[in-house]
Amino acid sequence: LRIVGFLGGTFDPVHFGHLRIGLEIKNVLALDELHFVPCAKPPHKSGVMASAEHRSRMLELAIENIPGFALDTRELDRQGLSYSIDTLKSIREEYGDATSICWIVGSDSFQSLDTWHQWEQLFDFAHIVVACRPGWKPDVESAVGQQLSRRIVNEPSQLKQTACGLILPWQVTQLAISATAIREMVAKDFSPRFLLPDAVRDFIELNKLYRQ
Ligand code: ATP
Repeated sequence: LRIVGFLGGTFDPVHFGHLRIGLEIKNVLALDELHFVPCAKPPHKSGVMASAEHRSRMLELAIENIPGFALDTRELDRQGLSYSIDTLKSIREEYGDATSICWIVGSDSFQSLDTWHQWEQLFDFAHIVVACRPGWKPDVESAVGQQLSRRIVNEPSQLKQTACGLILPWQVTQLAISATAIREMVAKDFSPRFLLPDAVRDFIELNKLYRQ
């Protein structure tokens, strides 16, 4: 099957933690494409600071000239909250059944997957790749842990054999970079340089983002 990946988030702002997991997962799964999917209105987060337009413009700048990286703005074109299940349905419709679709999440987000809208249906549309740290073990008692034990695979090549329904935990280089910390730095007039691409830093400065 053809195999494509999607990395959703608020990207407020995008930083090297996001880009690095994107690249590592793209390489290990030999993804044909990796799409960054900024959410318009995250159901789980309040206090998103930059506008959807600014957040997607920063993504655009961050992935410019990176082969195979793309921006997917479908959540911005929809009204209301950005539920991943709606996004995956729409992606599946676009790509058809003969494509393996991988939804990439950090292990922190994965742990609370059962709070996502219609979370058990996510597997009808995509695989989930959990970008985790070495030694990561989910709580097996939880509903999420039970889905994990039913669906877990350890071999990346398995995701190419079927279109959806599996979970692959994959160790990625840990970069302790957080968008929250970057926003706080900028608010205090400390430079976020070397935590994110220079073009994104310049954009933040030019548009006076995160200055409160
Ligand atoms: P905040 O600090 O504001 O919570 P964030 O960068 O953690 O921001 P998102 O932009 O929503 O939040 O993250 C998108 C995805 O990237 C999530 O699945 C998250 O788990 C993952 N992620 C974010 N930062 C890192 C990092 N430094 N290393 C690995 N994964 C990360």
